[in-house]
Amino acid sequence: MNKADFPILNETVHGRPLVYLDNAATSQKPQQVLDAIVEAYSRWNSNIHRGVHHLSQVATSKHEGARQAVADFINARSADEIVFTKGTTDSLNALAFSFGEAFIHEGDEIIVSGLEHHSNIVPWQMLCERKKAVLRHIPLQDDLSLNIEAFKGLLNEKTKLVSVAHVSNVLGTIQPVEEIIRLSHERGIPVCIDGAQSVPHMKVDVEVLDCDFLVFSGHKLYGPTGIGVLYGKREWLEKLPPHEGGGEMINHVRWEGTTYNELPYKFEAGTPNFVGSYALQKAIEYIESIGWEAIEAHERELTEYCEKQLKDVGCTVYSAGCKKAGVISFNMGTVHPFDVGTLLDQQGVAVRTGHHCAEPLIDEMGVPGTVRVSFGLYNDKEDVDRFIEALKKAQMMLM
Ligand code: PLP
Repeated sequence: MNKADFPILNETVHGRPLVYLDNAATSQKPQQVLDAIVEAYSRWNSNIHRGVHHLSQVATSKHEGARQAVADFINARSADEIVFTKGTTDSLNALAFSFGEAFIHEGDEIIVSGLEHHSNIVPWQMLCERKKAVLRHIPLQDDLSLNIEAFKGLLNEKTKLVSVAHVSNVLGTIQPVEEIIRLSHERGIPVCIDGAQSVPHMKVDVEVLDCDFLVFSGHKLYGPTGIGVLYGKREWLEKLPPHEGGGEMINHVRWEGTTYNELPYKFEAGTPNFVGSYALQKAIEYIESIGWEAIEAHERELTEYCEKQLKDVGCTVYSAGCKKAGVISFNMGTVHPFDVGTLLDQQGVAVRTGHHCAEPLIDEMGVPGTVRVSFGLYNDKEDVDRFIEALKKAQMMLM
């Protein structure tokens, strides 16, 4: 892994070299992605799909090339199944609205899990309020794993959709999504996978998973902010109405009414983020140049190394020993996570503290929050050592 590809990692914070361990919130960008953004604006910036002129055609082919790259990256059957959005939250809101319009009626049920990010809770709550439907959640067991037996009991003829995180953004634990998908499909219920925390850390193959929808954000995947993906199986996307109206998503507009464009354009109202999609493609190419095998092995080693050290200094590590994807949550005795985070920051170490936008899970854990360390492919053991050293100093001051 080449740290030198990521210019921001040369920055100093409070006079110390930066140790960036907040990758679950957003990842840093390699030079290739930064160059792509400059290239787009300095060489072929032009609105896409509409222009007959050269620049517009170049921009269009870059955007559509990026769509194909994303389709290949997650092994979608066709680029038409890739809808570009602003990010995971935007994808989930789009799906909740659109799926809700077509398929949710009074008394219907939607299932999420007890460890979701708010982005995979609130859009469904809003939908349920609008349609007088019911949001259920898969309860957690004492070890914070999903209670699959209870999930089986939740599935019934009123269940219209299941939407679960592939990897918990708080605990880093990899969820049994294959089983959830299989059990749901046995009853003909579609499943949406929130891949915000899995797609940046492991090979996610929609054909192998057989999920009906997959959502993720570019900015957590070494790509730019403001671009994300809503993947949907063609047979589902075709049945869903657009969630937004405007340019691009139409076929014809008459005063009598409007007909909608074909897939995926009917879900992309307005000028798409064609610079973002191109830069996202460069991020994907960067990941692929390293390869998933190497990335997964590297991040697994780092996670295990860090977890062991955290335990050695007496911290409580949540879901310790579970299979994780680059995220560790811990607490230092009863010290408030915010105080730990602040002292780490003063030593140049960036971590996240608080509820991590997953209040129901944090409530269940019975803590005010956690300190979260999350790795990217550029982190190394030296980063962990610097973090642990800083943590020990914080410990001396706070305990
Ligand atoms: N879902 C999960 C599991 C996340 O971790 C996050 C962000 O942390 C989101 C959804 C929301 O992502 P975004 O803010 O990029 O829309």
